[in-house]
Amino acid sequence: MRVAVIGGGWAGLSAAVHAVQRGHRVSLFEMAPQLGGRARSLDNGLDNGQHILIGAYVETLALLATVGVDTGEAFLRTPLRLRYPQHEGLALPAGNALIAFSRGVLACRAWPLSARVLLLRAALGWLTRGFRCAQELTVSELCTRLPAIIREQLIDPLCIAALNTPAHQASASVFLRVLKDALFSGPGSADLMLPRRPLSGLLPEPARDWLHRHGAQIELSRRVQSLDELDDFDAMVLATTSVEAARLAADRAPEWAALAQGLRFEPIVSVYVESPGTVLPAPMIALQGEPAQFVFDLGQLGHASGRFAFVVSGAREWVERGLDVCAQQTLAQAAEALCWNTAPTLIKTLAEKRATFACVPGLQRPPMRIASHLLAAGDYIEGPYPATLEGAVRAGRDAVEALV
Ligand SMILES: Cc1cc2nc3c(=O)[nH]c(=O)nc-3n(C[C@H](O)[C@H](O)[C@H](O)COP(=O)(O)OP(=O)(O)OC[C@H]3O[C@@H](n4cnc5c(N)ncnc54)[C@H](O)[C@@H]3O)c2cc1C
Repeated sequence: MRVAVIGGGWAGLSAAVHAVQRGHRVSLFEMAPQLGGRARSLDNGLDNGQHILIGAYVETLALLATVGVDTGEAFLRTPLRLRYPQHEGLALPAGNALIAFSRGVLACRAWPLSARVLLLRAALGWLTRGFRCAQELTVSELCTRLPAIIREQLIDPLCIAALNTPAHQASASVFLRVLKDALFSGPGSADLMLPRRPLSGLLPEPARDWLHRHGAQIELSRRVQSLDELDDFDAMVLATTSVEAARLAADRAPEWAALAQGLRFEPIVSVYVESPGTVLPAPMIALQGEPAQFVFDLGQLGHASGRFAFVVSGAREWVERGLDVCAQQTLAQAAEALCWNTAPTLIKTLAEKRATFACVPGLQRPPMRIASHLLAAGDYIEGPYPATLEGAVRAGRDAVEALV
């Protein structure tokens, strides 16, 4: 088939690579001058926000391997470790997931023994119920019986990192699914995988080169205005953002477009700072207080040394208060929480207002199939995951599988 892929983010790249592997003739149209969408590098040498992958991202890791990326070299891979500035939080040993979780929790001295036991009891309950719960529950409601220290030092940071939605608004059933796949699946699925390359060097550029080598056409700086432009293709994969997909599909599938249009979003603010000579106690540090939840030492990840990325997820309130306020508060938080060799100074504050859809209870997400030869791919498509790279890559693969 002649397949048009519209959008060159991670979902579109996944769709294009899988379509080529299936023997289709692929043309990819991307409106930006470069590939990668939300997970790309910027001209100023920074990424469009720090991204974390985990060992459970099996489809993403397989796609990276397909396009020739040595994932052993491209990531700093470590067992899950929530390190705070002054103390260790949960750190999982390697090995069988269930045993590793139990051993990690029991060994976590930052929490009273009674709290550790209550967490293990709650986890056992989630396990015996198959990690399922009522659709309308929020994460806070799910965890209401857990001690405050567990909610503050484990549930809230995991929830905001994975769902980009604060625990009191986030969907408990999606959260449980993430816990199941990350913490309670095969060995290594909870591993943190921190990119050692700029984001564009991770997938977008290797995928571009692979697609060129395999005869696919890539048109950059080409915004598809209407699907009618591509009617001579046998099939189309709509791999744009949900807002743009709703606009493009409105004539052909108004009900589908209404679902896509109905999604609400959560912003992420990234605050990049510089402090020559500073090395943090770990490449990734969890923070208490506001606004940032995590800071990454980019020097330890093989990028510029003395450069740090603070991540403010679920950042609606900070976007409303203004990015300057957010940046100043982050610098104040940084000065208070961490030891710096030289006072940290601001490099850049980036705000992605539509970083991810708000992953709230009972959310109805648009299905993959729009019409018979029109499929949608993107991190927002109906599925078990929140908006993540893995969700996007899976959606791209699934759309191509559904073309047959
Ligand atoms: C700051 C930030 C931090 C994040 N952190 C993480 C993380 O740590 N881990 C994780 O798993 N996920 C993270 N995410 C989420 C992840 O980036 C997204 O889930 C993923 O990139 C979505 O990919 P996508 O292909 O579905 O959409 P997009 O990346 O939005 O791609 C859509 C593409 O379509 C193009 N396009 C739109 N309209 C048209 C048109 N009409 N014609 C042609 N092209 C068009 C766009 O230019 C874009 O390139 C983060 C996101 C942000 C913003």
